[in-house]
Amino acid sequence: MSAPPRPKEPLRPQALLAQAARDAARRHTPTGLGLDSAAMRQRMVARLRAEGAGCEPVWQAMAEVPRHRFVDSALAAQAYEDTSLPIGFGQTISKPSVVARMLEWLFLGTTARASGHLGRVLEIGTGCGYQTALLAALARQVVSIERVQGLHDAARRHLTAQAVLHSRLLYADGMAGHAPSAPYDSIIAAAGGDDVPEAWLTQLAVGGRLVAPARAPGGGQVLVVVDRTAEGLRRSLGEAVQFVPLKSGRI
Ligand code: SAH
Repeated sequence: MSAPPRPKEPLRPQALLAQAARDAARRHTPTGLGLDSAAMRQRMVARLRAEGAGCEPVWQAMAEVPRHRFVDSALAAQAYEDTSLPIGFGQTISKPSVVARMLEWLFLGTTARASGHLGRVLEIGTGCGYQTALLAALARQVVSIERVQGLHDAARRHLTAQAVLHSRLLYADGMAGHAPSAPYDSIIAAAGGDDVPEAWLTQLAVGGRLVAPARAPGGGQVLVVVDRTAEGLRRSLGEAVQFVPLKSGRI
């Protein structure tokens, strides 16, 4: 897919404040990597660029957000490899190339393409909060839902430490979406069920786009992209993927 345009307003006051707080944290806290983590991120982004996974705003965000701060310190050295990593509770953080591609697809939605940002976002599956931090840099507003209390708490700690200010974390079953903040310009899920839940489609704004894994017609999982147009829903299938299962209820 061709790269979508860069955001028209890349330097929002909230983003600047958050960046200043991150810079301050970086000056005073050892990375635990023994290497310059910014340089490791730049190398990760260079690989993603070479592969064509992602687009300019996504690469900018990935160059900023310290992925190693969202995983166990024992895994920090692997944080900038293109690999998924365990985050506890039997869950995993997706590999950077998959995250980059899913965010790029969101940018190809009608509203995102026109505005250069992801608008109001619903994320299902906060996990450790890494993707939430990227979304916060790319969107006006982020609502993120997690069904595992331990992960919801960990994500809150990680995002607070990184001074990610404008994301709202909910401990709830994301199958129902979050109607009070709907409609959403972008909806993204990091866990896949048999199909995309009806509630998510209902909560998608006109001009909005949803990207989520779901069961493939022939077995396995595939990324599903749904656009809401004035005429209704338009659905297409992307690449084969392997995400953790979408489960109901909270634990
Ligand atoms: N993007 C996350 C990836 C987390 S893995 C990150 O950056 O870390 C997917 C997450 O989806 C898991 O944490 C899992 O607990 C969560 N999940 C699965 N079913 C869910 C549901 N019904 N509602 C909310 N979260 C769910």
